[in-house]
Amino acid sequence: MTPKENHAAIMARSGTALTITLFRYVPAVIAARAGPRQKLIMLRDLSDQVMKEIAPNSPCQKGCSHCCHMATTISRHEAEEIGKRVNRTPKKVTALLNREAQIKRFSGKPCPFLKDNACSIYDIRPIACRIHHSIEESADPCDISKGVRDVAQVDLMKIADSVSMVTFPASLGDIREYFPPRLTPGG
Ligand code: SF4
Repeated sequence: MTPKENHAAIMARSGTALTITLFRYVPAVIAARAGPRQKLIMLRDLSDQVMKEIAPNSPCQKGCSHCCHMATTISRHEAEEIGKRVNRTPKKVTALLNREAQIKRFSGKPCPFLKDNACSIYDIRPIACRIHHSIEESADPCDISKGVRDVAQVDLMKIADSVSMVTFPASLGDIREYFPPRLTPGG
């Protein structure tokens, strides 16, 4: 199906559920009396629910790792959780690069947690990774080796923006800034 047809099918099937999640549940999480880590866990659950609704009309599938070669913004809190899992201290990131600079610096470079074409931290992968998707006819437009292109998606900016809101004033940065490639084993 074309992106337009996929979008229409998703809205016909799940438009109400998506609207309620994005406009009621996400703001409720932002306003909740909870710390940033708890809120991130709640946002993760909402992200996964939203993606279940979109999945039948998306070419995203296990074994495809195009989006793991794209610039990926994560919060300091997410970096710290990953760091604990992999026994690495995330680097300090002082300021989020503007999107253009981030794409120029990181597009095409594999995420440090991509192993054998799969995410090695799948259960705790950042929200940016959870909500990244395509509703194109195939995964081809995501292939960064053929150039950076806009990929048709359902608008999930409310979730993407909520990450910085619930973790403010902690830093945001590309996942590769927190975990730059190691120059020596164990370095
Ligand atoms: S954290 Fe996992 S899903 Fe996210 S970009 Fe890295 S390998 Fe891909």
